[in-house]
Amino acid sequence: MEKKYDVVIIGGGPAGYSAALYCTRAGLSTLVLEMLSAGGQMATTTQVENYPGFNEGIDGFDLAEKMLAGAERFGAVSEFAEVTALHLAENSKRIVTSDGEVLARAVILATGAVPKKLGLPGEDDLVGRGVAYCATCDGMYFKGKTVAVAGGGNSAAEDAKTLSHICKKVYLIHRRDTLRAEKAYLDPLENADNLEFIWNTQIDELLTDGKLTGLALTDRVTGTHRSLSCDGLFVAIGRDPNTALVKNQVELDAQGYIVADETTRTSVPGVFAAGDVRTKPLRQIVTAAADGAVASKYVQEFLQTH
Ligand code: NAP
Repeated sequence: MEKKYDVVIIGGGPAGYSAALYCTRAGLSTLVLEMLSAGGQMATTTQVENYPGFNEGIDGFDLAEKMLAGAERFGAVSEFAEVTALHLAENSKRIVTSDGEVLARAVILATGAVPKKLGLPGEDDLVGRGVAYCATCDGMYFKGKTVAVAGGGNSAAEDAKTLSHICKKVYLIHRRDTLRAEKAYLDPLENADNLEFIWNTQIDELLTDGKLTGLALTDRVTGTHRSLSCDGLFVAIGRDPNTALVKNQVELDAQGYIVADETTRTSVPGVFAAGDVRTKPLRQIVTAAADGAVASKYVQEFLQTH
């Protein structure tokens, strides 16, 4: 017979383990399902500098292990298995994994989102050696240096603005001649002395001597090739939320994020969304962890009447 939990949390990142900590402390039987290891995207970050309480920063993997241990201390169970199907509409929610099935009275979806990559050769190897996907997280490593930002949406504009306060020089490289970003972003960017737009341009190659040294570029209008020296490249071309499993079950927004407000409630009773996978203005470890705590409150409220 399948094991039944009060709450099953899908995803063992900061949202998932924060939810697990709060749920177990509230006396709920709690299972966290994670595919690989604790931490999700956070575990791949070498140095987390913007999570309060670690005045010298902390390795993302170590922080993940601490979050896991903190939740297990109060009785949360972690299983490392791939979730292959979810049946969320039923009162008793059924979760199918590579190791079997479990049942839950409530489910918290905390599956996160991954930054889109340019897909260039060497991109993965250069992460942490010049290539980055989050200016708020990694901008400080490029203090006083020259960086490029790839993209033309709100994220790229926001990253370029953030980096212009930190770096010596910022190039914003966009494949078209107008930003997709809201107009409000344009003025501060145009007024920044150290920011230069490179329009209609695609990045063909990452130049490297072990770390990033520059970019090979092509002007999409003139066809001209050139190289640009830089110490860093921030890729800000959008994110892919991990919502394939729930696509036809809970309401998603146009970008594929789960629609849920500050209560973390989704369109399906008993199903909650926490962390980067939810519609929200700022996707950070600290906001994911906050979501986990909030989700636990509304799970408890739901379970009192179901
Ligand atoms: P986005 O709006 O989808 O913009 C992605 C940008 O990257 C576009 O300019 C796109 O070019 C470009 N791009 C996509 N694929 C590319 C590729 N392979 N090579 C080069 N360029 C590529 O993504 P986002 O900026 O991450 O924003 C996502 C959502 O979050 C949006 O709804 C945004 O409004 C929201 N957001 C809001 C805030 C805020 O309110 N403070 C901040 C950040 C993000 P094209 O324009 O040519 O398609």
